[in-house]
Amino acid sequence: MHDIVIVGAGPVGGCLALAIADADLDVVALDARPANETLRADRSLAISHGTRLVFDRLGLFARVAAVPQAVTPITTIDISQAGGFGVTTLTAEEHGIPALGYVVSYRALTQALDDELGRTRTSLRYGSPVAAVTATADGATIELAEGREPLAARLAVVADGAGTVVAGVQRDKRDYGQVALIAKVDTEAPHAGVAYERFTPTGPVALLPEADHYGLVWTMAPAQAERVLALSDGAFLAELARHFGTRRTGFTAVRERRTFPLALEVARPTTGQRCVLIGNAAQSLHPIAGQGFNLGVRDAFELAQAINTCAREALGERAMLDRYAARRRGDRYAGIAFTHGLTQAFAYDSALVSWPRGIALALLDAMPPAKRAFTRAMMFGI
Ligand SMILES: Cc1cc2nc3c(=O)[nH]c(=O)nc-3n(C[C@H](O)[C@H](O)[C@H](O)COP(=O)(O)OP(=O)(O)OC[C@H]3O[C@@H](n4cnc5c(N)ncnc54)[C@H](O)[C@@H]3O)c2cc1C
Repeated sequence: MHDIVIVGAGPVGGCLALAIADADLDVVALDARPANETLRADRSLAISHGTRLVFDRLGLFARVAAVPQAVTPITTIDISQAGGFGVTTLTAEEHGIPALGYVVSYRALTQALDDELGRTRTSLRYGSPVAAVTATADGATIELAEGREPLAARLAVVADGAGTVVAGVQRDKRDYGQVALIAKVDTEAPHAGVAYERFTPTGPVALLPEADHYGLVWTMAPAQAERVLALSDGAFLAELARHFGTRRTGFTAVRERRTFPLALEVARPTTGQRCVLIGNAAQSLHPIAGQGFNLGVRDAFELAQAINTCAREALGERAMLDRYAARRRGDRYAGIAFTHGLTQAFAYDSALVSWPRGIALALLDAMPPAKRAFTRAMMFGI
């Protein structure tokens, strides 16, 4: 029997595997993707300053940052609302740190994790899709697809981004009835590390500095998205400029437009018999506050602490899993509530909420302690 089997060696499962690589344990990490391939090669991840510190501890940040254009620092975040007053600007300088966060290439991060894990004694097995995870009180069974020999482990960690391979875990889903249209956008003037979050009548729009362009995340109704996707590049840029207003102008080119549905999905509970879910398998959030991936990295980091301080025989036992779940509960629910709360506070185009929103943004900007607390929450979690 293995000590730990990790299902999914993506950004979150890979971080966990690296964080426990020095423990004297028999660890297997399984991933469905073939070696040297990334399924989401075009995706970027927004990471907070707190996640950067975790990456530093894992020896990962410098490695990813060495890849040309793989890491873009966010030095300023400009938050505003269209058609209403109130703006707040958060800067890294006022917090004495190099950046508030970073936009990181999913491909470069996964590649760095694969390379680092390749140097450890962890058995990293590609091309190994898992069909199901079941368990008894004595151990977990990890069933592989294509009729291959199952694996047994004291503890199964599910980090497959979906969590559906585990039976008996309820998944609460709330569909926001909106989609995120994502694209890469060029601008006349360089981004200079400035990110924009703009609340508009149809939902939030974010521009994230990414290499030599902006990553656009534009929330809208599915029918509107269908229409906007079909526009010519020129018409798309004109509509974006109209929608975004004057906070950022000079959009010159767009490419790689696509959409994905927005939903909140929460596993309850995140631990089962001999099994724990982390990352997107545990919770998948609206991208409005860029909290999802950071929450997943904190799941991995906290679980690594629990594993590294646990006797081998006690791995996966109820008491160990309960301790981990208790330690994650506050941060996890705060992250979910904060993100969901923002979607509700900024969802409606009405003067009744536009005024309080404007006042909140203006107050946040005028009150250094409140601003510091807000920025801290964005950097390290709530
Ligand atoms: C469409 C979309 C766009 C997004 N865009 C952004 C963005 O722009 N910025 C941002 O910060 N976040 C974004 N996110 C969120 C971000 O992608 C997640 O927070 C992050 O990828 C979670 O990492 P993870 O390791 O938990 O899961 P994943 O990244 O999904 O990784 C899961 C890993 O498990 C493997 N796997 C899956 N199923 C199996 C199986 N059955 N057996 C074995 N292995 C398996 C996969 O190959 C993969 O390597 C987006 C999410 C979605 C759905």
